[in-house]
Amino acid sequence: MQLQSAAVPARMYTAGGDMGNFRSHRDLGDRPEVQGNETTGITATDVIVVGTGSAALSAAVMAARGGADVVMLEVADKIGGTSWRSSGGYWIPNNRNQRERGVSMDRDATLKHMAVLGYPDRFDENAPLLGLTQREYDLIAEFFDIAPKVIDEYEAEGILKSTQMDYPGRDDGMPHYYNSGYDATNGTVLGARVEEFAESVASNPSAEAMRQLGGRQGDGADMVGQLAAAAERLGVQIVLETRVTGVIQDADGAAIGVTASTPDGPVRIGARQGVVFGTGGFSHNPVHAKAYLRGPIVGSCSVGTAQGDFIDIALEAGAELGNMREAWWTELPVELAKTMSETPELMGFIPGASSIIVNASGERVVNEKSMYNERGKAHFVADENGELPNKYLFLVYDDAVAGDELVWPSRWPIPPAGVREDYVIVGDTLEELAANIEARLTKLGAEVENFELRSDFLDGLKATLALYAEFAQGGVDRDFGRGNDSNQWYSEPLRPGAKNNCLAAFREEGPYYAMVLGAATLDTKGGPVTDTSGRVLRPSGEPIPGLYGAGNCIASPAGEAYWGGGSTLGPALVLGYMAGKNVAQEPRRTAAAQAAA
Ligand SMILES: Cc1cc2nc3c(=O)[nH]c(=O)nc-3n(C[C@H](O)[C@H](O)[C@H](O)COP(=O)(O)OP(=O)(O)OC[C@H]3O[C@@H](n4cnc5c(N)ncnc54)[C@H](O)[C@@H]3O)c2cc1C
Repeated sequence: MQLQSAAVPARMYTAGGDMGNFRSHRDLGDRPEVQGNETTGITATDVIVVGTGSAALSAAVMAARGGADVVMLEVADKIGGTSWRSSGGYWIPNNRNQRERGVSMDRDATLKHMAVLGYPDRFDENAPLLGLTQREYDLIAEFFDIAPKVIDEYEAEGILKSTQMDYPGRDDGMPHYYNSGYDATNGTVLGARVEEFAESVASNPSAEAMRQLGGRQGDGADMVGQLAAAAERLGVQIVLETRVTGVIQDADGAAIGVTASTPDGPVRIGARQGVVFGTGGFSHNPVHAKAYLRGPIVGSCSVGTAQGDFIDIALEAGAELGNMREAWWTELPVELAKTMSETPELMGFIPGASSIIVNASGERVVNEKSMYNERGKAHFVADENGELPNKYLFLVYDDAVAGDELVWPSRWPIPPAGVREDYVIVGDTLEELAANIEARLTKLGAEVENFELRSDFLDGLKATLALYAEFAQGGVDRDFGRGNDSNQWYSEPLRPGAKNNCLAAFREEGPYYAMVLGAATLDTKGGPVTDTSGRVLRPSGEPIPGLYGAGNCIASPAGEAYWGGGSTLGPALVLGYMAGKNVAQEPRRTAAAQAAA
């Protein structure tokens, strides 16, 4: 297609606008309205940053601090992407709050924690690079080394004020998601610090629950709001409704601009020093999702504009792709996912002690208290024929869970006590519940690929519940180790006297409840491979000059892991920082002036 040179209509976002709108982040409609509608003729700048999520904003702030003129291009009509919607926790090992508590995370142990979870098939604790490639090792080592410095610098410069994510009853912050056997230091998760916390929370149920439980941290909207305000102070221009479609390269392959589509037609914009992508993952691109992911997904809670544009753009520019099978996994109720293109919430931790996940034979298949990344992966376990018997699983719980009025930080999608939702299947007895699940699957038909319960489902479920009651009585889940360490207590109000805080026998009397679950994503995390400077690499390992990436649009340094709470936003902020800092040191390429022609 012949693209014409055109002035970009700069629908400027003013971060200092209505701060009251930085609150209700799950409902993206509540993001700040665009301030003004002026048109400026942007034909070239020093640095173009694509996207306006955490990675992009971090990069834009750093590029501007490095002296570059920066323009951010965002396809949506609001800023923030999935970062806005998120709970806003960022994983920063050895952060200031930990250090103030006298905690020092051991570098060697933490790198092993990151490597064993990220690359379990290749991990070798005795190998110099722990079984990773040099690039993979360098990325996790660099992240460990600079992450606390980045956050300290952002604090000192008033760019992003952080606080330890509080967790009820724990002065040492949130516990780790895993006990990897190497490092499990609490308090790695930070969140944006808001001085008036009570005012920072509106309709976000998780943050509201945390607040009721004593938390003080803000959420993704607060994090994005602070970064956007810093970007504005530094003179960064944000142009909305502009979808970048390609990278313009000079004769040497250096990125010197972008092509983009706008409501007023296609444009070309020059970038003298380079282009940084922070465009999120590809969860909402069904072709890429089917081609690349390790298994089928039923939906995602990422923003609908996470369509993986950078995959094709980067391939066209000569990049190598990596980590394409992986996502930040979770599960979603199939029926919700079918009716909502993007779900507003993340299915975090399964609440309650009498709540289990079973397969079509009524058997448990996973530790239900394991974190979302692991529960999501459980759907992809293949049988000897390569089929996925766990593709659809069933969350089953009793009235103790359904009727509990306690707030849980991650109750969703179990409705509040007394509220009925169509996607919840109910039965007064286990027999009735099984029959109703069967009927629901029949009704869903092709939407669940005609998935059926096996004939042994009811007997299997009864046997599972009998064994589960035995586990609860003894306090030990002999099959999956549910609740055997406090890392798994995220969603649990402490039950004094219980032998195991996460185990309780189901009630003898119904009603009982169920929902059909499928694998889903927070977003994907594969894309072009990058180095520690954030530069996009060719298959040869050479960088493509001037082309950078950070966040979910690149091959994540985390591999298949979710190292701890905040493991997506921590690297997004830190690698965004690196990309922005380094792109501002690129030479100004004169060919960029012609890129818009
Ligand atoms: C409910 C919820 C809670 C979460 N909580 C946490 C948490 O506490 N901690 C954590 O670490 N993670 C959390 N996550 C995950 C986290 O939000 C994402 O992994 C993270 O925000 C991704 O950031 P990003 O900067 O890579 O991309 P995004 O924030 O998705 O930003 C990408 C931006 O690029 C734009 N874009 C895409 N394509 C183009 C294009 N071609 N041209 C121009 N613009 C484009 C998009 O519109 C979007 O604005 C949560 C997610 C959800 C949904």
